[in-house]
Amino acid sequence: MEMQNFINLERIEPQKRESSERVEDFKEIYEVFSVEEASNQASRCVQCGDPFCHSKCPLHNYIPYWLKSISGMKNELAFKLSNESNPFPEITGRICPQDRLCEGDCTLNDGHGAITIGSIETFISEHGFKKGLKPEFPGITTNKKVAIVGAGPAGLACATYLLRAGIKVDMYDRQNKAGGLMTYGIPGFKLDKEVVARRVRWLEDAGMSLHVNCEIGKDITFDDIASDHDAIFISIGAESSRKAKLVNENAQNVFMAMDFLRNIQKKLFSENYDHQYDVKGKNVVVIGGGDTAMDCLRTSIREEAKSVKCLYRRDKYNMPGSKKEFKNAREEGAMFVYNASPKEIVVNSKNEVIAIEMQKTMLSNKDASGRAGVEIVKGSEFRVEADIIIFALGFSPSSPTFLAENGIEVNKWGGIEVNTDFETTKSGVYAGGDCKRGSDLVVTAANEGKLAAGKIIKSLLS
Ligand SMILES: Cc1cc2nc3c(=O)[nH]c(=O)nc-3n(C[C@H](O)[C@H](O)[C@H](O)COP(=O)(O)OP(=O)(O)OC[C@H]3O[C@@H](n4cnc5c(N)ncnc54)[C@H](O)[C@@H]3O)c2cc1C
Ligand code: SF4
Repeated sequence: MEMQNFINLERIEPQKRESSERVEDFKEIYEVFSVEEASNQASRCVQCGDPFCHSKCPLHNYIPYWLKSISGMKNELAFKLSNESNPFPEITGRICPQDRLCEGDCTLNDGHGAITIGSIETFISEHGFKKGLKPEFPGITTNKKVAIVGAGPAGLACATYLLRAGIKVDMYDRQNKAGGLMTYGIPGFKLDKEVVARRVRWLEDAGMSLHVNCEIGKDITFDDIASDHDAIFISIGAESSRKAKLVNENAQNVFMAMDFLRNIQKKLFSENYDHQYDVKGKNVVVIGGGDTAMDCLRTSIREEAKSVKCLYRRDKYNMPGSKKEFKNAREEGAMFVYNASPKEIVVNSKNEVIAIEMQKTMLSNKDASGRAGVEIVKGSEFRVEADIIIFALGFSPSSPTFLAENGIEVNKWGGIEVNTDFETTKSGVYAGGDCKRGSDLVVTAANEGKLAAGKIIKSLLS
């Protein structure tokens, strides 16, 4: 098919299930494009000489090339190109905030409507899998062995590129399943858990040994793995929840977003979970306005909470998360209160939450981060009834003791220090993903895993 079809064809999004139907389960809400939709949408691409989408994608995917291939029905070529630079395109295609990345910088994002890059990326792999295509690995062809601590996207990406170089990988994770936050954080309505499990299985088939329920520093020591491997990659994420430092914040039924989401996911996996996180019939208030807050709202709705409200201190135009996720949460019935900052948690005599005291805010000049500042309006206090309060205010690295004990230094935010080769202050030990850069995205974690693998391969095989 001819390219540059944007004059004749409008941007379309994949079909989305009706909100009344989708709140009944945790299944993904978007369909995958049909062959015709993907080919037509790809044919809208301008084929820019210096593609901004490619530069803005953290993995520097060869986007215009695979768009041209899929438009011309060269599905196998598109699959190979897409899977070369990206360790799991069908995952990033589903959950990257494309409006801030590739699609945000698409030349057509000027009124014509950006190419639906993420949805086409998902289609290319899903269609390929249906036709029997699989990621290719050579088998273990070297005598080198690398340990990876943490099976999130950074660890899985690193494993992918090491295995492609014929290096044996031992992967350790303290959870019951691999995937990190892709498995125990991001809800199934955004990313089907089987999609992650399928990639993990292929890595195991390719020669990765997966050791789950194994926490380094607790179940086995760092020395145990150091003595048995030629290099180590640390990708332990950043799961320490940030608190608001409010009166009564340790009351019963005040939860951190990650604890809530992880426990609900464990319940859905039929694993042991803490029943205090059941929200059925409760008034749930979520504090925060990012994507994690949207995930907590939408999870609470599916868990049959009585009411689900988001309290956010800026206005809706200054929300930090993706517009798509905000729209989905609203469609599903979440209520929003803007320009509201928490002051105090109100409890009863049993130290249980009954409400949250809020204050109105006004936006002021932009702060150092470029976002509108927030000023409290004096005497504007108001109460919001709540049985459960969930804080979704971001995450920081947690610096487990094995780091300092082994001379692995962290910066003042707890992020692991690395040089330009992703090597930590201990020789032969590398790090990447959220534990190094602070909480960010699947695609940035995947990119650091991929880049670190390149450096490890160079040091072990050259
Ligand atoms: C609710 C939520 C929703 C999100 N939604 C999106 C989204 O839509 N799109 C997006 O791009 N990003 C999203 N993110 C961010 C994204 O999930 C993270 O940036 C990404 O997962 C970080 O990858 P990572 O590999 O560095 O760490 P993680 O995914 O956190 O994985 C770290 C792994 O290390 C393991 N581990 C930790 N310590 C040890 C130890 N001592 N021994 C063994 N194992 C250990 C943990 O169990 C975990 O499995 C979301 C995050 C959250 C919390
Ligand atoms: S990985 Fe993310 S940023 Fe890169 S092309 Fe895919 S959806 Fe866009």
